[in-house]
Amino acid sequence: MSFLEYAPAPESRSILHLKKSYGLFIDGEFRDGHGTPFTTISPADESPIAKISNADASDVDSAVSAARRAYDRVWSRMSGRDRGKYLFRIARLVQERTRELAVAESLDNGKPIKESRDVDVPLVAAWFFYYAGWADKLDHAGFGPSPHALGVAAQVIPWNFPLLMLAWKIAPALAAGNTVVLKPAETTPLSALIFAEILQQADLPAGVVNIVTGAGDTGSALVNHPDVDKVAFTGSTAVGRAIAKSTAGTAKKLTLELGGKAANIVFDDAPMDQAIEGIVNGIFFNQGHVCCAGSRLLVQENVHDEVIDRLKQRLTTLRMGDPLDKNTDIGAINSKAQLDRIRTLSDIGEQEGAERWTADCVIPAKGFWFAPTIFTNVETSHRIAREEIFGPVLSVLTFRTPAEAIAKANNTPYGLSAGIWSDKGSRILGVADRLRAGVVWANTFNRFDPASPFGGYKESGYGREGGRHGLGAYLQSGWNASAVVKSATAKKEVAR
Ligand code: NAP
Ligand code: MG
Repeated sequence: MSFLEYAPAPESRSILHLKKSYGLFIDGEFRDGHGTPFTTISPADESPIAKISNADASDVDSAVSAARRAYDRVWSRMSGRDRGKYLFRIARLVQERTRELAVAESLDNGKPIKESRDVDVPLVAAWFFYYAGWADKLDHAGFGPSPHALGVAAQVIPWNFPLLMLAWKIAPALAAGNTVVLKPAETTPLSALIFAEILQQADLPAGVVNIVTGAGDTGSALVNHPDVDKVAFTGSTAVGRAIAKSTAGTAKKLTLELGGKAANIVFDDAPMDQAIEGIVNGIFFNQGHVCCAGSRLLVQENVHDEVIDRLKQRLTTLRMGDPLDKNTDIGAINSKAQLDRIRTLSDIGEQEGAERWTADCVIPAKGFWFAPTIFTNVETSHRIAREEIFGPVLSVLTFRTPAEAIAKANNTPYGLSAGIWSDKGSRILGVADRLRAGVVWANTFNRFDPASPFGGYKESGYGREGGRHGLGAYLQSGWNASAVVKSATAKKEVAR
């Protein structure tokens, strides 16, 4: 079978007004860090994009001090209505600068422009709009009368959805009345720094949001800073565990959004066309760099061969290549380190006896690439069935009965998400009820909405982001408001 060839349709980079170098964003302005600057590159061709400042512990301290001052003097005294106005303004500016942000995100991260343009950036705006609406309604959010902000929030995010993870962190924190110091991932700082320009454009008071770039050391200095009241982290379970240890016994409130190994369960009565698209979206969206990716396909045994045949056929139509090309379905792997990890785990899959199939894609000469891959004959003991690969690799297992599907789906240390494909509503509800996963999608996958809480069980972390629950992660319950105000005042006295 032959397919229509597509002519290249690259999005223009001219909309980007890139600077040669970017400083840290502290107290409303850009300044150089004291660490050794680093270069962020495009993973599609390894070309340098810009030089980025590196925050050391003293820079992190300046950022936390700026956030504390802004909290005490401005943000904690501002009405919710006025805070909401700033959030609405930020949301509108994100919309106005959508194309620029999408190009920056695809360039720095390697994700296809059609995803950054149609998914990431619109969701960023949606998150700010949604939480803008909450800012003046905290008394009615179900956390008691007059719930109180926590203070300064330290937020550390990964590289897979750089701007969206920033929005998930910053929007609820500001709506609840906190100030923020955020650290983006080392490989994807660009969109956060353009976002800092948007904050200047929005006239957000200095110090309310501070952005410190750097690697793990910068993140560690931030979450361990004694003057932060809240730590919010998204990333690997290993780093999440270290942060949980270091914050234990302190007064810091902690939420962790960690890895996953989601089961995507396909029953024999599933609407097959939609299920195939759902499987593809579940694991190949964003090159599989998705914590809630449907990386374990559980397919009912009697439809296994049909599903795999159709899936392979569908994968041969995916186009891999230039992330800025509007036709691209599969972009670049974000870094050399991540590519090595995907390769290693895939090789182990083969060594352990699973059968490997790879879509026939042309791999570009430069950059980091991994073609969509399926493993069949996977056993629950295989590492590719247990560990998060965080790449475009699907492990396929089979089941015979709903009970077996549930047992296999729950047989993981993680519990972030799951999917169910079936024509039968009662079966969907019955199975969903017994899955230990924070989010269960029915006849769809990877759907996100700011009104819907998101988060995990077990090693996928704790706390919820999104919705009213996400707001609660940044508030002290109002039932104890006077005690909270007193303790916050006492803390300030000690700090002085
Ligand atoms: P990671 O190492 O946990 O990084 C996440 C963030 O934490 C980055 O900003 C990172 O900085 C920072 N960081 C690293 N060490 C730190 C420390 N000791 N204290 C404080 N912050 C620290 O995760 P990754 O390297 O990006 O990805 C590795 C694995 O994490 C993936 O394979 C996947 O399993 C998982 N992951 C999960 C999600 C999710 O959404 N749940 C997202 C991404 C990754 P630098 O990156 O700048 O060094
Ligand atoms: Mg980069």
